[in-house]
Amino acid sequence: MRIQRLTDPQGFSPPDIGLLSEKVSSALTRLCKSVSAGGNPFIYCFSAVKPHVLEDMPTAGTDGKKYYWGSEFLRSLTPDEVLIVICHETYHVVLQHVDRVKYSARDKDLWNVACDFWINGLLKKEHHVKFGGNLGTPISIKDVLSGTMPPMVEGRLSGCFVDDTVLDKTVEQIYDILDKNRDKIKKWMESIRALDNTGDSESSNIQITLDTHMDSKVDATALAEEIRTALEAAKAMGIGKVPGGIEDILGELDNPTIPPSEWIKRVIFRKATSQGLFNDYHRPRRRGFSIYDHQGNVESQLFMPRRRGYKIRWVAMMDTSGSMTSDDMAYGIKELKTLASLGEGMIVPTDVIPYWDRSTRIESVGDLSTTKVHGRGGTAFDRFFSELPKQSFAREGIDLIIAVTDGHFVLNQHSYPIDTVWIYTDNKAPNPPFGRRINLK
Ligand SMILES: [Zn+2]
Repeated sequence: MRIQRLTDPQGFSPPDIGLLSEKVSSALTRLCKSVSAGGNPFIYCFSAVKPHVLEDMPTAGTDGKKYYWGSEFLRSLTPDEVLIVICHETYHVVLQHVDRVKYSARDKDLWNVACDFWINGLLKKEHHVKFGGNLGTPISIKDVLSGTMPPMVEGRLSGCFVDDTVLDKTVEQIYDILDKNRDKIKKWMESIRALDNTGDSESSNIQITLDTHMDSKVDATALAEEIRTALEAAKAMGIGKVPGGIEDILGELDNPTIPPSEWIKRVIFRKATSQGLFNDYHRPRRRGFSIYDHQGNVESQLFMPRRRGYKIRWVAMMDTSGSMTSDDMAYGIKELKTLASLGEGMIVPTDVIPYWDRSTRIESVGDLSTTKVHGRGGTAFDRFFSELPKQSFAREGIDLIIAVTDGHFVLNQHSYPIDTVWIYTDNKAPNPPFGRRINLK
């Protein structure tokens, strides 16, 4: 008996559901091949364990938990094109593209276009993909900047953002190029949308992207675990786990025995590499980055990208409730030294409420001594997490949240889209609802 790959929980019941399902199965089977045979075992292991479902949408998308397919779109694709869409969706999830823009002031439309340029550039290089066909007419950066209209083919306009000339750029750099021409590009997008003669997304004659960028439903820490599991499974297949460059991004998650206190450094490493993959992939000159175990022995050697400009942006929530001793707080602040030396951050005293106006900006290790303690009431952290996105520091983007606490707090939120590390001063306290816990004692 064959497993039905594609399910139809909403009951659209297309008559060719078997054929549609077969397309997804066949694409997954292709991914299961070795890298040299055009497969991608990592993406296979990551995507094959997740449900693939039919959805009322013009193209495809993922929220990190499921892969969604519009039936009309899926029907139009060849098995190779289905494979490309699965890779494209998986890279959005793995690289947290949607979450990275959520709390930033960046324009979402331009960011989406920049992400697609980047991913399709990667796919073109790693999988030797010929874009065009049913995925849409390739639209280059030059086309976007010059306002060139993609061609109408038989009354239909379908396009796909792909460009050879930005392979050495990061998503952020591509975004910056687009952002310098924001008004012009917005007008160009408007004029394309104006050609839509239906107003109905499913049957629209206009489709300038191959997917819909959906909000992620997986918190950053759970995602890191999933990536690690998929890498292990892919490795066990013994046929080469990931094509070329993307391995640099994922590699630091590939060691399940990492001491928890090193996790912060690894998050920093991941952020730094995902900012500069191609630059560093093409230029193997790198400086070493040693990971030490608890006895101070070198546990492994990682490589930080040569790019020096990247600074991690972090926010530390300092539990200043009555149950925290001043020793606890001093110890917690000491743990922030690594962060203070690698990026800029903000320490926010928090008890039942976050004291945003009493927070301390940290731009160097010396600033840590100026941290103010305020509060000393009970402990509840919901307001911290819900108000954080509204703070001006957070609006420029945050890579990491560090919560220093004894672990006795109230928090109703069950997930958060930013990597969160809880530094616990009481090792008997119950687990946090999300994120990674590190016991100090
Ligand atoms: Zn996309």
